[in-house]
Amino acid sequence: MSVIVAKFGGSSLSDAEQFLKVRNILLSDTNRKFVVPSAPGKRFDNDVKVTDLLYECHARARRGQPFEAPFLQVAERFQEIAAQLSLDVQLSEHLARIKERIPQERNPDYAASRGEYLNGLLLADLLGWDFVDPENCVRFRQDGSLDSERTQIDCAHELMRHPYAVMPGFYGSSPDGSIRTFSRGGSDVTGAIAARAADADLYENWTDVSGFMTADPHIIKNPRRIEQITYRELRELSYMGATVLHEDAIFPVRKAGIPINIRNTNEPGHPGTLILPHAQGEPPAGITGIAGHKGFAIIVIEKAMMNAELGFGRRVLQAVEECGVSFEHLPTGIDTMCVVLSQEALYGVRERLVQRIIELTEPDSIEIHDELALVATVGRGMVSQRGIASRLFEALYAAGVNVRMIDQGSSELNIIVGVSNRDFERAVRAIYAAFIEPLD
Ligand code: ASP
Repeated sequence: MSVIVAKFGGSSLSDAEQFLKVRNILLSDTNRKFVVPSAPGKRFDNDVKVTDLLYECHARARRGQPFEAPFLQVAERFQEIAAQLSLDVQLSEHLARIKERIPQERNPDYAASRGEYLNGLLLADLLGWDFVDPENCVRFRQDGSLDSERTQIDCAHELMRHPYAVMPGFYGSSPDGSIRTFSRGGSDVTGAIAARAADADLYENWTDVSGFMTADPHIIKNPRRIEQITYRELRELSYMGATVLHEDAIFPVRKAGIPINIRNTNEPGHPGTLILPHAQGEPPAGITGIAGHKGFAIIVIEKAMMNAELGFGRRVLQAVEECGVSFEHLPTGIDTMCVVLSQEALYGVRERLVQRIIELTEPDSIEIHDELALVATVGRGMVSQRGIASRLFEALYAAGVNVRMIDQGSSELNIIVGVSNRDFERAVRAIYAAFIEPLD
């Protein structure tokens, strides 16, 4: 028998109807032994997430203001689910205790975590499964970082004791006993922790989309779905702005080699996207996906015979470091070195940085070009397939896009091009049409 850990996001558990879909999914495969729920999310466009309401309760309480109104909204969300599903949980007692404690807590984590806590209690009741409180096994250090080793030991020990269990996402506790949360969207991380601790064969992450898309749907209408992607490819795409999973959720399962399956609660028959440690074959289109965003600047430093000057690169990076900015890419030529930074990072330090590079390197020229967008074309097949780069640049040329920078990591997993902000969408469309499918 294999073990599956299933995490359900906020939209998958936003009301009683969604709870029933989740129950059907869980009970349709007895291998699904552990479930990690988020707090109830939005039911419709202008709805408010329970987590946001809880943060609001705490903020008001800390300012000494009444927080009855947002708290009542929270209470009603849970009461409605419990009533419609005829659940047995003593909600009023839990709610009274939470309401009393919120103003006593200095940081908002306790308040924010209660959405997951209560949702976990309701779901455990609906399924007839045990409830595991992550307060007792997800361990944070006093500085707020996750203590992965202790968490792994304590969660493994805890989950072993239950044949089927619900463990709420998003929170754990610090050594002083206080509740700590991950950053927003952190139930993904709890799901990954539970999968590793249960030595699962699969981590299912159920959400409201049928997997990762090959490109941003805001730019390409109905882009094709990615069927399989490796952890490394996913990291490249998420780094460039594609998001579905919390970034930190990858590491615990990647370490243990556990595949992740992104699935859609509203379309449970759809296979979604499978994230694997190693590829099974090459991506059908030659590439796996395209991601990118606007808002970069590139500093171009030129100096004759730079390649022979010992320590030149180090001095450029020393200036970057002294100004407290981190760089994104570092494409170099024989007599040029370029530093790509986010425009935001340059804010307030621009003049100082240029000045410092001049002092340290005495270049022949230095220029900053703003309004740069980066587009990453990612695919594990690049390393062994001929012609990917030529197709890519041919497509950009045909679309009239001027390429200002090229960077191909030595992993040969990714070709990054820098184009002007105003060419960004055009570039993504051209690459999509060249590799994945023609556009109308
Ligand atoms: N409920 C939390 C949030 O809204 C955590 C999560 O959903 O993963 O960020």
